[in-house]
Amino acid sequence: MAEVEFIQKSCPCGFIYMVPESFDSQRQDDHQSFFCPACGSKRYYAQDNEEEELRERLAHIEKSYRYVRASRDRTKARLEHEVRVRTGYQGQAAKLKRQMDAAESADG
Ligand SMILES: [Zn+2]
Repeated sequence: MAEVEFIQKSCPCGFIYMVPESFDSQRQDDHQSFFCPACGSKRYYAQDNEEEELRERLAHIEKSYRYVRASRDRTKARLEHEVRVRTGYQGQAAKLKRQMDAAESADG
């Protein structure tokens, strides 16, 4: 039979007790409540365990990345629009210049 590892727990009531290590790690993962054997108060792991914390951090990073990428795409689209507008003005300016040149040479 495999040896069971126990770890020490303490309750705010002052009672100190032992639970199997596997029980403790399961409660850390599932956040299910358990009860102090002395006072019967409900105990549970409220904090996220390391894996959940990393998962949340990753989700946050992915969200930031999507935001930055969307922002970049908007900036790129705006820049492309500005380039098209400028190209349009340059075309108009060139056309006006040709008309002026033509008018000047017609005047002789
Ligand atoms: Zn207690």
